[in-house]
Amino acid sequence: ARLRQTQFEISAANLAQCPPEQGVEIAFAGRSNSGKSSALNTLVDHGGLARTSKTPGRTQLINFFRMDDNCKLVDLPGYGYAKVPEKMKLEWQAHMGEYLEQRQCLAGLILVMDVRHPLKDFDRMMLEWSQHQNMPVHILLSKSDKLKRGPAKNSVLGVRKEIKAYGDQVTAQLFSSHNKEGVEQAREVLANWFGF
Ligand code: GDP
Repeated sequence: ARLRQTQFEISAANLAQCPPEQGVEIAFAGRSNSGKSSALNTLVDHGGLARTSKTPGRTQLINFFRMDDNCKLVDLPGYGYAKVPEKMKLEWQAHMGEYLEQRQCLAGLILVMDVRHPLKDFDRMMLEWSQHQNMPVHILLSKSDKLKRGPAKNSVLGVRKEIKAYGDQVTAQLFSSHNKEGVEQAREVLANWFGF
């Protein structure tokens, strides 16, 4: 229920612009079009929330949403716009790296991947980074409604097999913003990390 109170707080272009460290943050990352915004909206039950971060000019920013002083959700810029110049990609990586490495209040990372195209280079990079920081990662295999039961199950089992190398810190589930599969399961992970 507390997730419903989430409101947009502020956007930051780099670590220096992030609000002061307070309480616990959970970050959302994913390639663009992975369904990250939809997942965030669905989890907080607030249709327009992550649209805030899609307004032009904000897509490259780190967007903060606060539930209360001690619980924040952070929408990291979507990765992989085909037309983004190499220089911007490098800047993006620098900012992400900086945030993930230095943000003390970051408790965990939700990594959103299209269930039909999991574990791309970007996803593996995020997993490597997180492991380096000893940061738990929960993978949402999004748009699960796009696959039939069998293939969806196979996808999650395949991903679980591949992430075994990272140990218990990395978990994965099916998720759909359309038919709400896995929403409660994902909310439990957030509640756990927030310490509800
Ligand atoms: P983002 O770029 O990662 O933030 O992705 P969006 O949340 O904007 O979603 C990208 C596209 O995928 C949009 O056209 C959404 O309508 C669609 N989409 C997102 N989640 C789902 C889902 O659970 N099921 C289906 N079928 N489509 C989805």
